[in-house]
Amino acid sequence: MQQLQLLFQNIHRVVTNYVNQPYKPLFIPSSVHINLTQKRFDLTFEIQKQDTVAYVQNGTHVHFYGPVHIRAHLAKAMRQFFIEHAKVHMTPLVDRHAQHMKLFYKNLRYKNQKSLWGSCSDLGNVNLNIRMMFLPQELCEYVIIHELCHLRHLNHSKSFWKLVSQYCKDYHKFEKELLLADKYIPKWIFRL
Ligand SMILES: [Zn+2]
Repeated sequence: MQQLQLLFQNIHRVVTNYVNQPYKPLFIPSSVHINLTQKRFDLTFEIQKQDTVAYVQNGTHVHFYGPVHIRAHLAKAMRQFFIEHAKVHMTPLVDRHAQHMKLFYKNLRYKNQKSLWGSCSDLGNVNLNIRMMFLPQELCEYVIIHELCHLRHLNHSKSFWKLVSQYCKDYHKFEKELLLADKYIPKWIFRL
């Protein structure tokens, strides 16, 4: 019993010592380049005693703190960072196309979708994948055009493709490229 108590004391000490220490997650690199903004962000991590992981951004340095050693918590915060980045930097691009095409969404949301680049609902809600930020610019813009066209045609009918071709003549090429576009996405993003 005493031994067990001693063991717990030791564990407690180890955990306590661990708090407020820099931490290096195994599955996340120390920097990430986002093609959409052509910026490289340095990522640092710190274990702190709190329920969820939060982050502060200072220019191109992003510091994550909280239970960063718990994978699910860290992944959630990383997703949030990408979603916020998309809201600030991708939404103006979407809106520019929407204005040009006169096709307006009701809500625009960003997600880390497993298999879809984007989706559109009959209520006029458009979802875009945060992974699009890693695609070459013209491919990213093609996905935006494609999803905005779904605001008029919720299918892949002839009328839909005709509308797409009005705004992107090379849509065949981009559709083909999208099938292989995972190569542009850093592998660890798939694990978030
Ligand atoms: Zn589609």
